Amino acid sequence: MKFILILVFTFGLNALMFRGVNDKLTEHVIQQIREQVKNPLSQNYHSAYDRLAYYVDTFGPRLWGSENMADAVDALYKDIQTMGFDRTWKENLGEITSWKRGEESVTLFDPREIPQKLNMIGLGWTPAGSVKAEVEVVHSIEELKSKDVRGKIVCYNFEWNGYDSGVAFRYAGPVEAEKAGAIGTMIRSVASVSIASPHTGMTDYNNIKYPAVAITVEDADMLDRMRKRGQKVVVEIKTEGQQYKTTSDNVIAEIKGSTYPDEILLMGGHWDSWDVGSQTGANDDGGGVIVCLEALRVLNTLGIRPKRTLRFIAWSGEEMGQYNNGAVHYALNHGKENHIIAFESDLGSTKPYGFGITAGQQFTQLVTYLAQEYLTGIGAERIFPNDGEAVDSGILAEFTGTPLLNNRIADNKNHDFYFTYHHTAGDSMWMMDPEDMDDNVVAIASIMYLIADYDGPIPKD
Ligand SMILES: [Zn+2]
Repeated sequence: MKFILILVFTFGLNALMFRGVNDKLTEHVIQQIREQVKNPLSQNYHSAYDRLAYYVDTFGPRLWGSENMADAVDALYKDIQTMGFDRTWKENLGEITSWKRGEESVTLFDPREIPQKLNMIGLGWTPAGSVKAEVEVVHSIEELKSKDVRGKIVCYNFEWNGYDSGVAFRYAGPVEAEKAGAIGTMIRSVASVSIASPHTGMTDYNNIKYPAVAITVEDADMLDRMRKRGQKVVVEIKTEGQQYKTTSDNVIAEIKGSTYPDEILLMGGHWDSWDVGSQTGANDDGGGVIVCLEALRVLNTLGIRPKRTLRFIAWSGEEMGQYNNGAVHYALNHGKENHIIAFESDLGSTKPYGFGITAGQQFTQLVTYLAQEYLTGIGAERIFPNDGEAVDSGILAEFTGTPLLNNRIADNKNHDFYFTYHHTAGDSMWMMDPEDMDDNVVAIASIMYLIADYDGPIPKD
């Protein structure tokens, strides 16, 4: 009871603090957005899912710099030109260095009588190579340093303790193994749950010269058991990774603000993806891009022109982690403009719970108030302070100090769901749910509109 009283009191105070919001009109706009997207009779019902499926089915995976990616960029650009935005444009990144995979394999010899191919995937940027050697299994970098791995292939079989700790092995594991004298690296896939799928991702390729690949969680455990039993393990790794020169573009669209056109709210995701399956990049991050685009399109369809400018971006080149990718290009070319906030959706498009925000205390309070006032209807009202980071928007923040907003999948089950399929051939339309995508469109369109149309000055801190 006390708790409720305190809540009421706090909300009351917030309402007074942020009385710049025109409640009736705002309520009406939020209703309209929901009606446009969630009503089964509306032509926008499930349109995010349908639009994404078209791209995934038609163009396939979109590795940075690949022809698939170039075709998908052109198609997206053509698409946004038909949507009636105030401005649509592409920004070319100039010459970029990208990487292609080629054929690759891991074959288990000892202790098998008959050689056995293992499910595997090269890590991003792995060089070409062919090595056959004894395998040593380690569980940590410390253990690696305590063993003699000279002339051997190292297999990291670490425990799943969340994505960040796994990525540390994927990124630095091969370099550390080579420093210790190894001639190749296999890592346990960075995955929460496994059905024998290998997961790719970037490694620190500048500092390795031998193949670096991921094998499945199941096979990493098997090699571990073999070594613990004292069995000699021999594998052969073959890779054909190659760097090449190419180019790519960011795709941008905007609705100009009516009162403060120079104040920009950026919203988007990365259009590039990994290359490992027929549909890879449906979830990471095709879904993120399309829910942002649909959010802007729905606002435009409703004829809504908020006070500040809303700008959609499909960044090019997040997965490959290059210094001249789309996020850096955007930050260099637009960093001087007045970005009020940058929203990025790159955590999946499952049911939205709310938003992470990295901003000053007052701005965080304002967004918290807006979300709690207007987003409870779709259950997306929770705000997670100091947690709005994402990779591409984060680069703009690094250059300019722009506040950050991201979509939050608060339910841990969903998080596990995301990392079960992350960077595998299983990242496909099968993962996507039309209702959840619609909820994302409503949540993103609403929060961006609410901030963009806020009457008062946006708090600087
Ligand atoms: Zn991503």
